[in-house]
Amino acid sequence: MVPAAAPARAQWEGRQARVVAWRLGYLTLALAPLALCLIDLDPGRGFWVNLSVAAGFVALSLLGLQFLLAARWPRATTPFGADVLLQFHRQVTVLIVVLALGHPTVLFVWDSRFLGLLDVVSAPMRAKLAVLSVVALLVLVATSIWRTTLRLSYPAWQTLHAGLALVVAGAALAHVIMIGYYVDQRWEQVLWIAYTAAFVWVGVYVRVVKPIGRYRRRFRVVAVTAEGGGSHGLELEPVTPAAARAFAPGQFAWIMVGRSPFALTYHPFSYASSAEHPERVRFVIRGIGPFTAGIGDVRAGADVYVDGPWGHFSPDRVDASAWVLIAGGVGITPMLSILLTRRDRGDHRPVWLFQAARDEESLVAQDLLAELAADPGVTVVPILSRPAATWTGERGRVDPDHLRRYLPADLGEVHAFVCGPPGMTDAACAAAQAAGIAPRAVHSERFSMV
Ligand SMILES: Cc1cc2nc3c(=O)[nH]c(=O)nc-3n(C[C@H](O)[C@H](O)[C@H](O)COP(=O)(O)OP(=O)(O)OC[C@H]3O[C@@H](n4cnc5c(N)ncnc54)[C@H](O)[C@@H]3O)c2cc1C
Repeated sequence: MVPAAAPARAQWEGRQARVVAWRLGYLTLALAPLALCLIDLDPGRGFWVNLSVAAGFVALSLLGLQFLLAARWPRATTPFGADVLLQFHRQVTVLIVVLALGHPTVLFVWDSRFLGLLDVVSAPMRAKLAVLSVVALLVLVATSIWRTTLRLSYPAWQTLHAGLALVVAGAALAHVIMIGYYVDQRWEQVLWIAYTAAFVWVGVYVRVVKPIGRYRRRFRVVAVTAEGGGSHGLELEPVTPAAARAFAPGQFAWIMVGRSPFALTYHPFSYASSAEHPERVRFVIRGIGPFTAGIGDVRAGADVYVDGPWGHFSPDRVDASAWVLIAGGVGITPMLSILLTRRDRGDHRPVWLFQAARDEESLVAQDLLAELAADPGVTVVPILSRPAATWTGERGRVDPDHLRRYLPADLGEVHAFVCGPPGMTDAACAAAQAAGIAPRAVHSERFSMV
């Protein structure tokens, strides 16, 4: 295997050990409040009250940890991958809802007099806060599931999501303090304050410390180019050369153009340039919405804040004798980085690139691909789903027959990298496996996180 650039590869070294350490740390923090309750258990309250309190405490600690999962904290995120953590974040939300609803339900079933606490007019403040927390949680979940149906733009949803999450956690914490169970001893109060302070620190780190670092290491736009298929290339260089960050081909970064590094919404884009030149990076961005549609109007000299690299989608992570790359639409971007890096490293392993698009006009980065295809080790195969009648190349959606027509019978240790919109990516992964590539050797990146 041709070695990857050392600093980029280092991020994955010792990954297994870090995964285990983070899992243990997560479980410990999630269950810590239960241990506190057990130390100071008051059997006089009865089993059902204690069970209800336990459910509430675990819901609260899981809620705090949700901020950590969404924080894009490199140490915690890199061993797993941002998309995997986001998926876990969603699954844990389901558990939090079950626990948050189970917490009062146990009390209502045990003693129906507790139902009076739902009367938000006459109920004490501690009960009102609990109701506020649960209602905000349900609104948060509903707006996440039905964001597009509710026609919420991504930045609007993100602001609402962050605001609701703070209301849920703040109201729940105030409820716990006012109830006073397991928080009245001095040592219990110290522990709760330390716990809360740790999560507040995560918020400060993500929203203040990290953006300041990004401001210091900001990039400038050097050039904006039309790349076909409604996309634009955005070429950047760091304002100070020392700010260049090593990345691996296939990885992505969260970027914000202009405005301020403190902006809440950054957008994810794959690096489309050679990993051998982190001092001059390039993204290729297709205009589909408010942020991406404005890229063509960005002027040279504009500031760009880059949070990256992120992601596990990279040939640098595997030992392969050849690569099959399958890209749908603007999913071509990580493939450009893989091909350019291969060229700059003098790597001669064979590569087949299958580029799926709707028609010839939708094909992205054709000039660059023509240049890269001049290398005898690189085969580029466009596959169009709705080509013009004059098109003589491959047609349809990527299927195993397309791949078999170009790949040798003995594939050796070939790895496939598939990138594009979710539906296309799933279908192309299945096609790669049906064409004989081992499932463990099929890697994918979906251009969708929510
Ligand atoms: C890992 C990854 C790599 C990507 N690489 C590229 C690339 O190289 N080139 C390219 O053109 N596109 C890429 N995308 C897609 C790109 O991020 C979205 O098209 C872009 O964020 C849309 O923003 P918008 O405001 O223009 O459109 P909107 O209409 O606001 O968004 C369209 C959809 O994009 C998603 N989206 C929007 N904003 C965000 C955000 N801040 N974070 C996460 N998802 C968001 C949502 O699913 C939304 O429904 C990538 C996506 C991912 C997840």
